[in-house]
Amino acid sequence: MTVDAWLRTAAARLNTESARLDAELLLTHLLGLTRAALYARLRDELDVAVVTHADALLARRARGEPIAYITGVREFWFMPLRITPAVLVPRPETEVLVEQALMRLPIDRDLSVIDLGTGSGAIALALAKERPRAIVHALDASDAALAVATENAERLGIGNLRFVLGNWFSGISGESARSLDPELRFDLVAANPPYVAGNDPHLLQGDLRFEPRMALTPEGDGLAAIREISQDARARIKLGGWLLFEHGHDQGATVRKILLGDGYAEVETVRDMEDRDRVTLGRWCAA
Ligand code: GLN
Repeated sequence: MTVDAWLRTAAARLNTESARLDAELLLTHLLGLTRAALYARLRDELDVAVVTHADALLARRARGEPIAYITGVREFWFMPLRITPAVLVPRPETEVLVEQALMRLPIDRDLSVIDLGTGSGAIALALAKERPRAIVHALDASDAALAVATENAERLGIGNLRFVLGNWFSGISGESARSLDPELRFDLVAANPPYVAGNDPHLLQGDLRFEPRMALTPEGDGLAAIREISQDARARIKLGGWLLFEHGHDQGATVRKILLGDGYAEVETVRDMEDRDRVTLGRWCAA
């Protein structure tokens, strides 16, 4: 069977929006090729063993498993990140949060930043890479997630990160509590917290079924984590510092209300590349 023939059959078997791309990603992963190199070999014959292996990966994808869990990698902010089922798969729209954070972090100053619910470390790593003078704290409630984030930092050689085990600001415990000075205030607090409502049918469909539920939903109306972080961050942000949340496309107005209610100023919502509300931010200016 040729590369071209396998890709066509595979794409036809997948019931996804991105069937052709998914098939290409599985095969490039298996063959250790870039997509450009794969395209240069469309007429090459595949070994039977390769076809068998590729079909097995395809079957996992056909059952809904995210490509990033099958290949173990996902690109975010030009960085190849190692991804396991212990972490949410980084989404392209989260780069909007990174862009908005960078606009508020001067490059020529020592800064302290925290990423709450870091997962694979995507946001923290992007900020740490772009702002070498910042110390970026990467907090997560999951030990397994922090292990993935730590591995990513090591592989990428990004050293200005500190890993913290904790349940938002209230539950920082053990070693982490000792390593994170309770008096420390941040120039910027960023979070892509769980925000899907507990009864959202999407949790039971497609890729989301395979992701850690605690990374997707705080249950209830989906806003509990945002409410808690917004309240507690007030004691943790420097005067003039920023709080930024990623949230669902239908949560912009509600999140603005939460931030305004908690006393933040300059509250605004930024849209993603699909023109949907995605990031809401505010500035801590009260004394
Ligand atoms: N963006 C994810 C989704 O709806 C949710 C991520 C999150 O809850 N932080 O697919």
